[in-house]
Amino acid sequence: MPGPRVTPVQGDLTIPETVDVVVIGGGIIGTSAALELAERGQRVALCEKGGIGQEQSSRNWGWVRMSRRDPREIPLMAKTLELWRSLESRIGRSVGYRQTGILFACEDDQTLANHDRWRRHLDGTGIESRLLTDRELRDNFPGCQLSAKGGLLTPSDGRAEPQQAAPAIAEAARDKGAHILTECAVRGIDTAAGQVTGVMTERGFIRCQSVILAGGAWSNLFCGRHGLDLPQLRVINDVLRTSPINGPDTAMWASGFALRKRQDGGYTIANGGGNRAPIVPDTFRYMRRFLPALRTERRGVKPRLGWQFLDDARVPKRWSLDESSPFEYHRVLDPKPSRERGDEAWKKLVQAFPVFKEASIEQRWAGSIDVTPDAIPVISPVDTLPGLVIATGFSGHGFGIGPGAGRLAADLALNDTPFSDPHAFRFSRFTDGSKLRPDSGFGLPQTD
Ligand SMILES: Cc1cc2nc3c(=O)[nH]c(=O)nc-3n(C[C@H](O)[C@H](O)[C@H](O)COP(=O)(O)OP(=O)(O)OC[C@H]3O[C@@H](n4cnc5c(N)ncnc54)[C@H](O)[C@@H]3O)c2cc1C
Repeated sequence: MPGPRVTPVQGDLTIPETVDVVVIGGGIIGTSAALELAERGQRVALCEKGGIGQEQSSRNWGWVRMSRRDPREIPLMAKTLELWRSLESRIGRSVGYRQTGILFACEDDQTLANHDRWRRHLDGTGIESRLLTDRELRDNFPGCQLSAKGGLLTPSDGRAEPQQAAPAIAEAARDKGAHILTECAVRGIDTAAGQVTGVMTERGFIRCQSVILAGGAWSNLFCGRHGLDLPQLRVINDVLRTSPINGPDTAMWASGFALRKRQDGGYTIANGGGNRAPIVPDTFRYMRRFLPALRTERRGVKPRLGWQFLDDARVPKRWSLDESSPFEYHRVLDPKPSRERGDEAWKKLVQAFPVFKEASIEQRWAGSIDVTPDAIPVISPVDTLPGLVIATGFSGHGFGIGPGAGRLAADLALNDTPFSDPHAFRFSRFTDGSKLRPDSGFGLPQTD
């Protein structure tokens, strides 16, 4: 079975002629933006080339976390946690959200000290995050045999069900009047006098004043067609789903595995050791910009040269609006999971939690994660193309921040007061001479 089973969303049969805003991409970001806009009385069309939530937004671990976030994302994430708490009552549907805490296990003293420094970035936010000793970790995770010095526990973190969330939000947006269009790739944006006037989809033209591009791993290709250089690469993460078992409720990350209990009683398990990075033509194009990130993440990224290089090289970079675009040839990104990476995670998990010997591996999948050089997203208008807002590049942690990021993108599209300061997420940081590097938050917080 390719990929996890996502709650199906039936797309509308017809497309509207005119709306206020077109949202490109039916992941957690696009659906959240569409819901916000529809709730504010905007006419919205959400265009998704495949099915709702079938790429990253359903393949992820389902962690909704503040812990270990880049400090630049903390203000937006703090507000997003509030959105999650009321999301189910707001949309009248289940997204499986539960506040069960997340623990990052620290297996040596240096890692423990780093996490202690990260914790101080939360000072003044009212969000609790505390260091546990090894003993306290074991008390919180009965049966745990991981050899650790302690861990960082953030009780306000939690989880939601990735296979439900984006579809539920899309249905709620439809309740509020949004057009939900699946198998409806957007080929490009039409402009007049440099301003957005509409989009050409594979099913026809939709007139609009604004476009939100929430295209996940495809955003670089889409932007490139419009002469916009969005530095973005893809890395691959491998996931396992287990049979139901009576194990820990709190999610845990350790250097060898990550675990998260699912609503169906099983677990979503992944390799804590990082991601595979297929070497593609863009790897060389963006090498210089990604070097600081590669240095920081050198243990977590495994570069691989394979068939993907040739496949990517063959993808056209330019096409006209009246011909099929690459988005129509690739409905769903479904990378092959690595059995080796999955088995490694499973072995480490069973060593740490012998109770998992009673579970079986029910499914394996992988997901392509879109990353930027500084590992924070772009949520920003584009100065050179008025009417376009980009909301992409969530760098492996966009699910948890998704509802807030969608709200922020909607604010920017409507010129409303931003939900959270968008400065750190500006598109112009790639060209205005800003230093681009991820911030693990392991340094001491800035005091000014
Ligand atoms: C294995 C894995 C584990 C992860 N774990 C977590 C986690 O635990 N917590 C967390 O917060 N984040 C996690 N993430 C990251 C998170 O899933 C993503 O950051 C988030 O889902 C991104 O949402 P999105 O809407 O930007 O992208 P996507 O969900 O990828 O959606 C983009 C959509 O745009 C569509 N699209 C693209 N171009 C076009 C076009 N031209 N026309 C029409 N449609 C188009 C695509 O088909 C796609 O459906 C993980 C990711 C993976 C893969």
